[in-house]
Amino acid sequence: MTQWLTILGSTGSIGCSTLDVVRRHPERYRVYALTAARSVDVMAEQIAEFQPRFAVMSEPSAADTLRSFLPDHSETQVLSGVEALVQVAEAPEVDQVMASIVGAAGLLPTLAAARAGKRVLLANKESLVMAGPLFMDAIREGGAELLPIDSEHNAIFQSMPHDYDGDLKTKGIRKILLTASGGPFRGKTLAELEQVTPSQAVAHPNWSMGQKISVDSATLMNKGLELIEACFLFHCSAEDIQVVVHPQSVIHSMVQYCDGSVLAQLGQPDMRTPIAYGMSWPERIEAGVKSLDLFDIARLDFQEPDEENFRCLRLAKEAFAAGGTMPAVLNAANEIAVEAFLGERIGFTAIPTLIERVMEQHQLQAADTLEAILRADSWARDCAKSLMTEVAL
Ligand code: NAD
Ligand code: MG
Repeated sequence: MTQWLTILGSTGSIGCSTLDVVRRHPERYRVYALTAARSVDVMAEQIAEFQPRFAVMSEPSAADTLRSFLPDHSETQVLSGVEALVQVAEAPEVDQVMASIVGAAGLLPTLAAARAGKRVLLANKESLVMAGPLFMDAIREGGAELLPIDSEHNAIFQSMPHDYDGDLKTKGIRKILLTASGGPFRGKTLAELEQVTPSQAVAHPNWSMGQKISVDSATLMNKGLELIEACFLFHCSAEDIQVVVHPQSVIHSMVQYCDGSVLAQLGQPDMRTPIAYGMSWPERIEAGVKSLDLFDIARLDFQEPDEENFRCLRLAKEAFAAGGTMPAVLNAANEIAVEAFLGERIGFTAIPTLIERVMEQHQLQAADTLEAILRADSWARDCAKSLMTEVAL
């Protein structure tokens, strides 16, 4: 039966990879809605190819421009704003929602998809970090299916027992081994890190990704966010997870069992593999990814993460341990810090300093309502902006 998809953030790196999988299976998947912030040109091309019922742009002005690009006979209705994002995420016609907006902006529509009982293909880790308990409740109460798209979490999901019910011990699991490439600055000293530029930071050695996650990979914040993501997804504690730096990015993560077995998922660093797996689970479909050539790879290396020079990983662990609104504050401060670094307003090593200062000033609250989480998010953004000049010095 044809599955109808909404792709939140269709013009981004994950969005385009998702559409490439759809393109290979026109009988199996149809696009209900595509959404984007501003990229009107790319959106117009995607509409011409996939003919969605709806296209949503963040700003009304971008929606107007997009309408002027579409032919008169176009059957795609163009909408704008957050309410429209929520509408296309929860529409009754939709079976699957790819959550691939970057950052906190993805929270409301992703939550709406969970509440509406969709298959939620979760790439937008920030929404789970901000609102983990609330999000997992929404999945359960809405009767949704949550499929992790982040390559590490998808690998863990594939290496877990198929009937995993949220208790590591009863399934004989000792540890989750969360792999990290180490990013472009692995092995650099603090003095060297102080000099790195945005263009060096976004040049990831193995993966081609959006700018924000590329900087997160360079600071190791991405691994910190992923550690929190894994705790919520697999219902475990931070101590159950070990971060393993594996520079080749061939093993995408592993599960260690009590009998000494370690199960891993290996593959090319190509997001179409986890995307296709999430879309077709429990079946497997062609994803356009070439087979792994182990002779070509020849060796796999493993190291411990450097939490001294890459403080973001430690900050994420602290935020998760504090609980409540702290992970939302960590995430928001990070988004502001990354934006400032990309705009060359602060240096690379000021990213963790800024986040730490914001966390220190935060008065922790329970994160049991969406309002409390959004309030903490906006407080942290204001706080980070007010501290910016101090850390930039
Ligand atoms: P990207 O920057 O390439 O794309 C982001 C998409 O979100 C674009 O379509 C953009 O138009 C849209 N968007 C941005 N800001 C928005 C806003 N305020 N409101 C509405 N839409 C907005 O990012 P990406 O690399 O595709 O990453 C998307 C998400 O997937 C992130 O949460 C990232 O952490 C996660 N992820 C990405 C990869 C990867 O390989 N790229 C891997 C794992 C997880
Ligand atoms: Mg990842």
